[in-house]
Amino acid sequence: MALLQNHIAVVTGAGSGIGRAIAIGFAREGAHVVALDIDGAAAAETAEGIRAEQTIRAEGGGAASFTLDVSRRDDCDAIAKRIADEIGEVSILVNNAGIVRRNGMLGADGDVVKDWDDIIAVNLDGVFNVTHAFLPALRATKGRIINIGSIQSFVHVRTPSSPAYTASKHGVLGFTRALAAELGKEGVRVNAIGPGFIATPLNASTRANNPELVKTFMDHTPLGRPGTADDMVGPAVFLASDMSAYVTGAIIMADGGYRAI
Ligand code: NAP
Repeated sequence: MALLQNHIAVVTGAGSGIGRAIAIGFAREGAHVVALDIDGAAAAETAEGIRAEQTIRAEGGGAASFTLDVSRRDDCDAIAKRIADEIGEVSILVNNAGIVRRNGMLGADGDVVKDWDDIIAVNLDGVFNVTHAFLPALRATKGRIINIGSIQSFVHVRTPSSPAYTASKHGVLGFTRALAAELGKEGVRVNAIGPGFIATPLNASTRANNPELVKTFMDHTPLGRPGTADDMVGPAVFLASDMSAYVTGAIIMADGGYRAI
């Protein structure tokens, strides 16, 4: 039997990269996936792709999509209500939507302030907003929350990166642990995934224009290659399914070994 049958799974940022791969991977395990993205057309494309796969339908999987900017709290509440009314009770939430900038603290003043506001609004406030909106459903279903952290949940990287991104991903891990502690007795499990350098549209221009940066990452990556979005699916399915029934408050590093050295 597929691992996620009878689950309704919401994935934010599901129009691209890691979120899209996880949405497809969950549907292949029989989940009904709700793809959310600030780019509604991209989310719809993810959902259409899922609905077109016959093997997914055979496993009971399906998909819907909505436009959502996770930084807008009222919109998060409204979408949670709409999904409850139109689709059902959500039992899996993947907080994946995120943005990255590579400006340090000493960049132009305007940049660093704007980067801070934008990144914290999406990467950290967004995780809170969506979790808060779906919490009643997740508590009722003894659900599972998976937050997408980073190696920057632990360290700053010396390739250019913004302090806001590092702070946001440290915050995601702290939020994961706090929620795991508070919700464990209710049977809600809260975990994170820590991707390393994953080839997605997020870093496409960096990969195209900055081979030095990629080399710096790869020199620090025992597996010696960038990850793929599909590499994130196994850890996500594990954390969403009963295979991880006694795992909460954890972060699974899917980083090619970056943090081991
Ligand atoms: P991606 O390909 O850029 O996908 C992110 C998706 O989130 C995009 O569709 C993006 O839409 C959407 N999004 C952006 N802002 C949003 C908002 N306010 N509300 C809803 N959706 C929004 O990036 P990815 O590499 O898959 O990254 C996914 C997650 O993994 C992020 O949290 C990222 O920090 C994390 N991560 C990635 C890496 C990596 O190396 N790729 C490493 C560690 C952690 P637009 O394209 O329209 O902006």
